[in-house]
Amino acid sequence: RLHNQIQELKGNIRVYVRVRPVVPGEKDEAGGQAAIEFPDTRDHQQIVLTNTTESAMGSQRKEALSFTFDRVFEPQATQLEVFEEVSQLVQSVVDGYNVTIFAYGQTGSGKSHTMLGTSPVRMKYMVVCTPLNVSQGSPAEGMIPRAVRQIFQTGEGMRSKGWEYTMEGQFLEIYNETINDLLGYGEFDSKKHEIKHDKSGRTTVTDTVTLPLNGPSQVATLLARAESRRSVAATLMNQRSSRSHSVFTLRVSGTNTITGESCEGCLNLVDLAGSERLSSSGAANDKDRLRETQAINKSLSALGDVIASLGVAGDNGKQATHIPYRNSKLTYLLQNSLGGNSKTLMILNLSPMAAHLGESLCSLRFATKVN
Ligand code: ADP
Repeated sequence: RLHNQIQELKGNIRVYVRVRPVVPGEKDEAGGQAAIEFPDTRDHQQIVLTNTTESAMGSQRKEALSFTFDRVFEPQATQLEVFEEVSQLVQSVVDGYNVTIFAYGQTGSGKSHTMLGTSPVRMKYMVVCTPLNVSQGSPAEGMIPRAVRQIFQTGEGMRSKGWEYTMEGQFLEIYNETINDLLGYGEFDSKKHEIKHDKSGRTTVTDTVTLPLNGPSQVATLLARAESRRSVAATLMNQRSSRSHSVFTLRVSGTNTITGESCEGCLNLVDLAGSERLSSSGAANDKDRLRETQAINKSLSALGDVIASLGVAGDNGKQATHIPYRNSKLTYLLQNSLGGNSKTLMILNLSPMAAHLGESLCSLRFATKVN
């Protein structure tokens, strides 16, 4: 109860930070590990980065930059520990809330690991999860399979009170401001999908496949299908998965056979495109990559603007008058799940390496803006 009251006071937007561990082969990289500290051992809300800059005269200047968020996860945090901090949010979907969780960060910072998980056969920077394990669960699995399983279990538990739930899943990709259906057929970019919002607050995307889900194992099939479509596109198109946003949506409808009540909620789990800047992605002299980078920048800053204006409105205790949802496909698609009664969580993924410190600082500044 107290926890809920605190959440109400804080509004419906939260920001977590997760720093991934050093991965095999990375140890000897130039600069080694970045100086990252976690001084708040009680509430786990603080992260301190030490930035060393060299002056023209060759002298070194050290600057400690401290940031505070709703929760900070250290590299050793397990998938289960991270999930435990979001499970309440996931749970509220069953009560009819719209919930969106974003993973934000540069390519290689751990977004897909956080959202989908990592399997032993996973190739670097390519999303491959272990579909067979979804129904039983494995320690490496990420938020999507865990969230779906939790919602199924909650639904089962509510049966005795007369509630019956149906669920359906959708998996979309937004690449260069174009929507593609990860569960669909035919070539990517060949169909034009339109976003429609109806009066009841439901969002549909034309010409896309939505799969009914009757058990956690069906999610495995859904993810595997999305994965095979993505990997085909990836080999053809230059690691496209890290250059696009992927949006997994689980819609949950409940009716109570005793009381006649009904409710509908949805959970969006979004693996955002890599947030790295133009120079570090080497895009400057490649036309296609330049276009990709511009589309990513545009949509990430549109997302930041939407969340920031929702936050400002929330802090003043009012309904926001103008939220710029239409500035990108991503914010327009998620319009009914951002703001109003909806709950939003941004998970900021950071690399622990010194070579990535500049990008990590950019990510932290982005998160500070929306927090
Ligand atoms: P992104 O999706 O942001 O590009 P990935 O999720 O692909 O990043 O992570 C990059 C690499 O780091 C992958 O090899 C992944 O398995 C590994 N990794 C990321 N986060 C963790 C973690 N918390 N624990 C162990 N390995 C991780």
